[in-house]
Amino acid sequence: RPSVVFDNVMFGYEKDRTILHGLSFEVPAGRNYAVVGPSGAGKSTLARLLFRFYDPQDGRILIDGQDISEVTQSSLRAAIGIVPQDSVLFNDTIGYNIAYGREGATQEEVEAAARGAALMGLIDRLPQGFETEVGERGLKLSGGEKQRVAIARTLVKNPPILVLDEATSALDTRTEQDILATLHRVAEHRTSISIAHRLSTIADADRILVLHDGRLAESGSHAELLRRD
Ligand code: ADP
Ligand code: ADP
Repeated sequence: RPSVVFDNVMFGYEKDRTILHGLSFEVPAGRNYAVVGPSGAGKSTLARLLFRFYDPQDGRILIDGQDISEVTQSSLRAAIGIVPQDSVLFNDTIGYNIAYGREGATQEEVEAAARGAALMGLIDRLPQGFETEVGERGLKLSGGEKQRVAIARTLVKNPPILVLDEATSALDTRTEQDILATLHRVAEHRTSISIAHRLSTIADADRILVLHDGRLAESGSHAELLRRD
């Protein structure tokens, strides 16, 4: 369970427009933190930097004390599981979609991964079996069902760090509450960062970081932030 540190991170997609202005924070090992802030504040950018889709122009990002620019891409991918808002599924079976995180998985591994996901309570309520084809020619899954499969795919890799980037914000409230309860359970044994724009979805976070214009505006527990507003 590694810690995640942003140390004075400066980043912009274009030369003359800085998005993150020397952002610093620490998520201690095993803690569940949330990042909130208005649209455009830089929340998704922070997740992309952690995954090294981009590198900071200045400052460092550390996982377990190690600068991620010195870590191999494959160990970084093993360390971090990301669930984005709109996950893309393949036109294949539910089982294959879940096992996909393990490249070159055999049929046995596909089945084991699917069983693992069922044990987590993520997809036991899907009305279809793991053999069901989904996508264009197969069954069309609802947004919530799709997200369950995508979350299962991320979790079978058993990543010690979990990044949820608005993972439930496209879903209706009831489906969202349902999936949040599961995510809360699986995040408990990991270091996690949940990106959200509604405070109500992150009431369980150990600490909430509020981002404004690429800077840390404030931080505190859910109760503390509500009191201040
Ligand atoms: P948030 O997730 O908080 O809504 P983002 O990190 O997505 O914010 O975006 C922060 C800023 O960076 C926004 O002004 C956005 O327009 C800009 N931005 C995001 N992605 C790109 C990109 N690929 N190229 C250029 N600008 C981008
Ligand atoms: P795998 O290792 O199984 O190939 P990854 O964990 O690398 O899958 O992520 C799957 C895909 O999800 C990535 O290729 C990327 O396009 C997308 N993705 C992950 N995180 C984000 C994010 N924060 N914003 C946008 N897309 C993302």
